[in-house]
Amino acid sequence: MNVAEMIRSAGVVGAGGAGFPTHVKVNAASPECVIANGAECEPLLRVDQQVMEFHAGSVIEGLRLVMSHTDARRGVIALKDHYEGAITALRRELSGSDDIGLHVMRSYYPAGDEQQLVYDICGRVVPTGGIPLDVGAVVLNVSTLMHVDEGSRNIPVTDKYVTVGGAVRRPVTVKAPIGAPMDVLLDAAGGTTEKCGYIIGGPCMGRVVSDLSFPVVKTTGGIIAIPEGHPLLQKKSDRMSVQLIKAVCCQCSLCTQMCPRNALGLRVEPHKAMRSLAQGVDLLNGANGLFSCCDCGICTYYACNFGLKPSKVMGLLKAEMQKAGVKPRKEVYSAADRGLGMKKLPTARLIHRLGIGKYDVAAPMEERPIYTAVVRIPLKMHIGAPSKPVASVGQRVNRGDLIADIPEGALGAKVHASIDGTVTEVTGEYMEIKV
Ligand code: SF4
Ligand code: SF4
Repeated sequence: MNVAEMIRSAGVVGAGGAGFPTHVKVNAASPECVIANGAECEPLLRVDQQVMEFHAGSVIEGLRLVMSHTDARRGVIALKDHYEGAITALRRELSGSDDIGLHVMRSYYPAGDEQQLVYDICGRVVPTGGIPLDVGAVVLNVSTLMHVDEGSRNIPVTDKYVTVGGAVRRPVTVKAPIGAPMDVLLDAAGGTTEKCGYIIGGPCMGRVVSDLSFPVVKTTGGIIAIPEGHPLLQKKSDRMSVQLIKAVCCQCSLCTQMCPRNALGLRVEPHKAMRSLAQGVDLLNGANGLFSCCDCGICTYYACNFGLKPSKVMGLLKAEMQKAGVKPRKEVYSAADRGLGMKKLPTARLIHRLGIGKYDVAAPMEERPIYTAVVRIPLKMHIGAPSKPVASVGQRVNRGDLIADIPEGALGAKVHASIDGTVTEVTGEYMEIKV
């Protein structure tokens, strides 16, 4: 089996993003540079830095496997300057080799945005509607690379490191079986200190959930408990009034000036999106730059002094364009802003603005998988077609056994049992296993 086949067999998907199947990514690629993304974007999440600290050898081995499979000449691991343990561990593992270098950044938001990383490392802008490969780069999250290395040793993806933070008694980064319900993770963190709402993912890009039976998937990075009534939860609600936008948005354009994708010359202009919504102007076909919005939320959570939500409006308009069948065109409109470095938003300032400073604490990693008596493993944790069950109700399975496969000829990922037990339910959406 070659590297891509081993990755495919292990069910590896992008752990830090939307879950694109990794075997397809490495097969399509012929890049000049492979970038290992360890610059965890979101405040409070502590997964990537600890993966690099405690699994440095595995991350590097995964990166080397991808480099050799794609014939890339250069490998770069991108991370932040305060990840001291990770920097030490990676330098120790890399000593004496010159095929892979570290790209050490200040802590700014969103440092892990792949467009920013590619520009910082390769000096080229990924066009709207394009991918990093268009400018000679492949970007993979460090946990993905660890899974690549494990896949090469016949170890499939069965667990995910997840930070459990916010208003919990003992912030922690757990190793959670895929499909474990969120309440089991919260128990592992000692439970909440008060009545809370929950964000799956980070404070900015994550989404609020009310149902704690929600399962861990291959892309889950965090669950953050935020006390009910905290302004962050209100900011994250989808409620938005066009009347309020009409009355309040003064078109100061601060949201656009602070937008990191706009600074790359990609014409992402949230103030115009606000104006078009307020005035009912049809943007379809005329705002290709909208497709480059990465939903980082700087415009909403930091830039707008009036509490408006430009990022939600961007999302709304993007969805409308997609619904109308508008496809992104590959375009870069202007050179990246020369003052880009100065414009980067320090994470500490964002944390202060979000009012979550007291939760910005360590969340130590625990290596033993947490116990759960039941998992509900979704059949679609990746981009592409849902996986097809190959195990049936009543069947005994062991952790690591294949339970759902990629449908013939489709883009997808294999799924494996994450605990030993009996399959108790198979639906079109998930498979349940009980101990
Ligand atoms: S949304 Fe806020 S920051 Fe943007 S133009 Fe309107 S008032 Fe200014
Ligand atoms: S969410 Fe706002 S700041 Fe972020 S890329 Fe989109 S428009 Fe720009």
